[in-house]
Amino acid sequence: MATANNTVHGRIEQARAELTPAQMATGLALVVALGFALLFVQEPMVHDSMHNFRHAAGVTCH
Ligand SMILES: [Zn+2]
Repeated sequence: MATANNTVHGRIEQARAELTPAQMATGLALVVALGFALLFVQEPMVHDSMHNFRHAAGVTCH
């Protein structure tokens, strides 16, 4: 078990050494950009579904 822990720990240390702060910042920026893109792409669809739901429920909004 101690050997396995050492191996995992060694891999983490190796990955940490190979990832430069610039690479980590790039990865983080990519994740944030993807999150914002998903938010902006999904928002109109959510709005439309809620709009259709309101009309289906007999609520007039326009
Ligand atoms: Zn409407």
